[in-house]
Amino acid sequence: MSILAALQKGVKTTSAEGTTAVGRGLAREMAAGGVVALYGDLGAGKTTFVRGIAEALGYHDITSPSFNYYFLYQAQGRRTLVHLDAYRLKSPSDYPSLMVDELLTKEALFVVEWPEKLGDYLPASAYRIYLEGRGDERTIRLEK
Ligand code: ADP
Ligand code: MG
Repeated sequence: MSILAALQKGVKTTSAEGTTAVGRGLAREMAAGGVVALYGDLGAGKTTFVRGIAEALGYHDITSPSFNYYFLYQAQGRRTLVHLDAYRLKSPSDYPSLMVDELLTKEALFVVEWPEKLGDYLPASAYRIYLEGRGDERTIRLEK
């Protein structure tokens, strides 16, 4: 089964490493210009999932951008990654002032934690991923 088909059914992980591996798998399947929206409560594993996406692109040392809104990862020969944590965004109308869209070239991958904070600014093409669970177990589900 492809990773996308598996994610539509829901993938269970039992460790942070497992969730990172699923993120890696999704990133490998994604076309250029893709957007990933990560839904889930605080501690659900969104940043852990992004770590996997970043690894697939060749970026390591991912940290949560909560207090910076977003981090931009760019390097010669690698796809650009923009990692936004929209948690502190007060209103979707504040999104344009972050000027993130200006960074989103055709090759770039855009990953958003707390995508509900973007309202209609979230691209309709986004892969919507839901993370749920507690303890070491998480269910990761893709909604088409
Ligand atoms: P979020 O970004 O959604 O707030 P984080 O990824 O920062 O969440 O934190 C998730 C925490 O849960 C990490 O400390 C991670 O080690 C832990 N964890 C335990 N089991 C899992 C799992 N199966 N998947 C993801 N994270 C897990
Ligand atoms: Mg996070």
